[in-house]
Parts: sequence; C-alpha cells; structure tokens
Amino acid sequence: MEIEDVLCTFCGCLCDDIRVEVKEGRIEKVRGACRLGSSKIMGHNRIKSPMIRVNGTLKETSYEDAYRKAAEILVSAKHPLLYGWASTTCEALKKGILLAEEIGGVVDTTATVCHGPSIIGIEEKGLVGSTLGQIKNRADLIVFWGCNPSEAHPRHTLRYSSNACGRFTPDGRKGRKVLVIDVRETRTARNADRFLRIQPGTDYEIISALRMIIGGKAESLPENIAGVSRKELIEIAEMMKSAKFGAIFFGLGLTHSRGRYKNVDNALSLVSELNSHTKFVIMAMRGHYNVTGVGQVLAWSSGYPMAVDYARGAPYYNPGETSCCDLLSRRDVDAALIIASDPASNLPRGCVEALAEMPVIQIDPFENPTTLFADVVIPSAIAGIEAEGTAYRMDGLSLRLRKLVDTEHPSDVEILQAILDNVRRLRDDN
Ligand code: SF4
Repeated sequence: MEIEDVLCTFCGCLCDDIRVEVKEGRIEKVRGACRLGSSKIMGHNRIKSPMIRVNGTLKETSYEDAYRKAAEILVSAKHPLLYGWASTTCEALKKGILLAEEIGGVVDTTATVCHGPSIIGIEEKGLVGSTLGQIKNRADLIVFWGCNPSEAHPRHTLRYSSNACGRFTPDGRKGRKVLVIDVRETRTARNADRFLRIQPGTDYEIISALRMIIGGKAESLPENIAGVSRKELIEIAEMMKSAKFGAIFFGLGLTHSRGRYKNVDNALSLVSELNSHTKFVIMAMRGHYNVTGVGQVLAWSSGYPMAVDYARGAPYYNPGETSCCDLLSRRDVDAALIIASDPASNLPRGCVEALAEMPVIQIDPFENPTTLFADVVIPSAIAGIEAEGTAYRMDGLSLRLRKLVDTEHPSDVEILQAILDNVRRLRDDN
C-alpha cells in the first residue's frame, strides 16, 4: 500500500509530500524524501526494549519497571532537567511541562544550543516574517546568510526558496536572484548568482554597513569594511533594495559568530529598514523538525520560549542562568530526563561530563551516545511514522503528523503520562 502526503520528521522543512510504501506493517520504500529524510523514515539502530542500568550494565526490563524507576529518580532529585523535545510532538512537550510543574524541574530545548540567540534577538526586536508559501510564490531575491541548505535542508531550495516555482514566480530559479553571504564557499554558495565571502565574526559590521548604505549614509563608510570593499556592499544593498520581494534565511553562521543575538537583532533591523524601500522578510533555518513547535508550546504555556525553570512554583526564565549548559556547568541540576535528543553528541564536553555524573532517563526510539551513560532507557514510537501528533514547520505553520504503521512501543505522550502517574503516586505515598 502506498501512503501519500506523508510528512518527513527530520528537519525544519517538514516536507509534506513524501510517499511511503507499507507492506505487512513495515515501511518498504520511501519516495520523494532527501537522503536525510529517507534514512530517518526507514529507521536504524532502534532500541528494542526498556532498560535499567544495574552495576554499570544496562539490563532489559518491562515498561512498568522503567516508568517506576524513572519516577523514583525524578521524585528524589532536588532540581531535575527535562531536556530535548525538538524531535517529538507538541503534545509530548505539553505532558513534559505538566511533569516539570509537578517535580519543580527545568524544561529546556535543543534551541538553547542552536537558534537560542535568534530567539533572544527576535524577542528584543520583533520579526518581519512570512510563511514559506509566500516566499515560494513571491520572492525574487533569496539571501542565504550563514547557512547551507544544500546540505542541511536538502529540499528547501526546491520546495520553498531559490528553485521553487510559485504562483508569481513560475520560472523558478531563472526568475530569482540568489545571494549567499558566508565565511566559506559552500555548495549553496557555488549555486548562487552572487557570493559575498566575509571574514569570520564580522557579520555585525557587514550588517551595520548595509544598514548605513540603505539609510543613505554610504559616504560615511570607509573604503573597506571588515575586509569587504564599500563598492561591493553598495552593490549588495542595491540588489536588496531593487528586489520586489526579498527573503533572508539565516543559520548558525550568523547566530553563533561573534555578536550572537546582537547579529540577529541587527539583521532584523536591516530587514525592517529594507521595508521602507521594498518588501523583505527574514526567517531562521530551524534544524530539528519540531524545534519551532516546542518553542511555541513553551511560549503559550509559560510565557517563555526555552530554558523555563518551574522550581519556584511559577515559570522563571533567564537565559544564561536557566539554560541547560549553564545549569550543567554549575552542577545546578541533579538528574535529567532526556527526550528525543542526543546531548552527549551536541553539548560542550563539561556539560556532558556533568550529565554522566547524575541519574539520566532517556526516552528515544533510537540508540545514540547518550544511551552509553543513561540509567533508564525507554524506547518510544517514532512520531509521524508510528504515532500521530502536531509539529510546527520552520515558518511557524502547524502540521499534523499521521501514524503510518503499528508498533509495540508507546508514544512519547504515553510514556510521559505513565511517568507522571508514577510520580504522583510516589508523592502521595510519601
Ligand atoms: S528536506 Fe528535511 S524535511 Fe524535507 S525530506 Fe529532507 S530531511 Fe525531510
């Protein structure tokens, strides 16, 4: 049986045109997805059974025992961390927030180590945004700043941006200009009409110079700005001003270089000012498929988009204090529930060492380096393949994930509900 219009739950593009062939309850073939998406949908390294670490070795156990042990760890902790969430559903995070409220824990997402600075920049300045559909249908200038979709979001250019054919952009790539601003010549840069190579850590200066040119103060600039000639920047500014509809997509090259959230803040101002001349929008290239959604759910339920501490009985947010890396490096958390993420591969070494010293519960369909030191491992159904739910695409559009095949594994929602029930039971007993 072929199932059409399946969503790919790998990256923030959340492509919703995938076709999947299912035979005898198993996925046999994936059509239309990129290599990254196909490998996620086909599955690999599944965790087969719940496990509890006994004398240093993970031993298979039942789901009930794993839930009980996880609840014991969380109830005995003074300040537990609930981290990950970007690769699960909004409904799972909703349960996670209930759990954090119950145990006085901190909920933080993987955004804290990727687009966290973008979120802070957007909080400060506001966002001139749009949907990916508007960009596909209208944009005649696409700017990729510090990102490389050809490798990180392989279908982005074809479905939504430079190569997409839209209602008012029927000629696709031929009808658009593509500008790449980056510190190295990526595959995306090689396919652009214009590539501006900048020196590492100079994004802020380049954005400021573009703002001055657009504001009519080009003559006040020196001949050379952070290694780029004034003439070249005037040409780039002209390219932006003369577009009918321009869109900037930015990645970690902008958010994680010197200046961090101030780079994003400055880029948002540039886009605001461009709107005095033409229509321009800006969007972060979000990585995990639902990292946008978990930010939304946290924001509408607590008022804050990440790093929310429930220890005080009310949500408290202070990035730099309540974000997972700060808590771990200060040893300010004493147990962790890791869901749908792999902090052992992504957090700084000191934070991973801190995690390895404390009791860790892992909820994930797949084995990863975090499994190596987890004390309780609970395998879950893969959202969008074995469980339904809601996820938000990188432009903030919410989409429904369907269940395609049956599994013996419970969903993240069911696992979190079972842990929450055990936590409540234990607290009542005490
Ligand atoms: S671009 Fe992203 S969402 Fe689309 S198929 Fe590839 S990995 Fe999946």
